[in-house]
Amino acid sequence: MEASTSTRSLLKKRASDWDLALSAAAAAGQERDYRFIAKAVDEAYRAVECGGGNPFGAVIARGDEEVACNKLGRIDLSDCEIYASCQPCPMCLRLIRLSKIKKVVYGAKAQVAAAAAGFSSSIPDAFVEYYQKSGIEIRQAEGEAARIAEEVFEKTEGRFQTK
Ligand SMILES: [Zn+2]
Repeated sequence: MEASTSTRSLLKKRASDWDLALSAAAAAGQERDYRFIAKAVDEAYRAVECGGGNPFGAVIARGDEEVACNKLGRIDLSDCEIYASCQPCPMCLRLIRLSKIKKVVYGAKAQVAAAAAGFSSSIPDAFVEYYQKSGIEIRQAEGEAARIAEEVFEKTEGRFQTK
């Protein structure tokens, strides 16, 4: 039937438009992740450059704007997200939960940081699962953002203070 054929091709076209829209949205999300993770990575390098600090950094974002607690003048950050150069430890996750932040995006996996510091173990997954179940979205950034974040540990090798 002619009608159904044209309906089918129309639906097919709509599906491909939809696919395009989805991949554009995914690309925009990845670009946003990269922008904030790159700032967190800068903070990580700065912490090492200052001396006495370890290579970790984070930025807090509200919408497309980078903010900080003192700038906002409050500790309720429920409308903010945190971008961290590295997967947060359980203590940081606890503080993130207290601040009511709903989304955590990190660059490097904790295992990479632990290995760089000479440890063979890292954050127990149970902690991550616990905080995810309590309603916080926790995920690793993809692609280039993860790469530049993991590179921090190579570039600061030997300057990681474990004592
Ligand atoms: Zn921590």
